[in-house]
Amino acid sequence: AIPLVVAISTAVSANNGLLIRNRTAFENSRLITTIIFDKTGTLTQGSHEVAQVVSFDQRYPEQELLRLASGVEQNSEHYISQGILRKVKADGIAIPASDNFNYLPGKGLEGTVEGSDVKVVGPNYIKEYGIQVPESKAEEGVETVVYVMVDQQVAGYISMRDQIRPESVGAIKVLKENGIKNLLLTGDNERVAKSVSDKLGMDGYLANVLPHQKQEKIKELQAQGEFVAMTGDGVNDAPALAQADVGIAVGSGTDVAAETADIILVNSNPQDIASLIMFGKATYRKMI
Ligand code: ADP
Ligand code: MG
Repeated sequence: AIPLVVAISTAVSANNGLLIRNRTAFENSRLITTIIFDKTGTLTQGSHEVAQVVSFDQRYPEQELLRLASGVEQNSEHYISQGILRKVKADGIAIPASDNFNYLPGKGLEGTVEGSDVKVVGPNYIKEYGIQVPESKAEEGVETVVYVMVDQQVAGYISMRDQIRPESVGAIKVLKENGIKNLLLTGDNERVAKSVSDKLGMDGYLANVLPHQKQEKIKELQAQGEFVAMTGDGVNDAPALAQADVGIAVGSGTDVAAETADIILVNSNPQDIASLIMFGKATYRKMI
């Protein structure tokens, strides 16, 4: 016979946009005390639209920056890549071939395009190598900025806009009302992280976080006695999803993340996470 809790939880999970890969983790979701959210794709739409393209070098005007960037970005499934490729296609620019593609986890991408070394990288990379860049005019707190480098020189930047998912406000509210701590952990810049965290009334955020640091942060919280859930979408979130007591992959994310996670959030809707925890608590109370 199917145990009652399994029957109930399966029915509820199907109705709530959750795909359960690990039954124990699912049943333990009532124990969650802290949730770490990856910003993109769960709390935000992940619908990055190119907002501004700014050239610092007359050899590489705006359309040329986009074209070179698309050469390397075509090798990735990241939200940033998809946004840049949509823009390039809309502008009727032909995407050039690239080779020697290299993914720089949490920092960006690089490859060879038409004989030049092209990098598309975020502030993490710029800071790490102490590269000087003119101040960006990207709108404070709203735009994610990636720099386009050609043969080690910063040629310009592309800024992108994402939207907070309307469901995120309610999801964070429910979690807070139930005493569950919520933190935003993102590889994106400080201003964007703070803006999202503030708008949603979250308990806190960490910006410019590299993939391995997500895993370390979870360990740290676990050592403090927290039972930690984490949402993630990317290849580089796999170690953090594995470290978490309950790893939740976002439906629109990569296969690697989905294979590591305990639960898959089919509709990428953060409210389904709140439902998951509330349901777990309610079911457990009924059974004892
Ligand atoms: P998050 O924690 O928000 O999911 P990621 O670890 O996926 O962030 O990425 C962190 C940062 O690395 C991005 O904000 C960006 O600066 C840079 N980056 C990641 N992927 C790409 C890409 N495909 N193209 C350019 N930059 C990227
Ligand atoms: Mg990510």
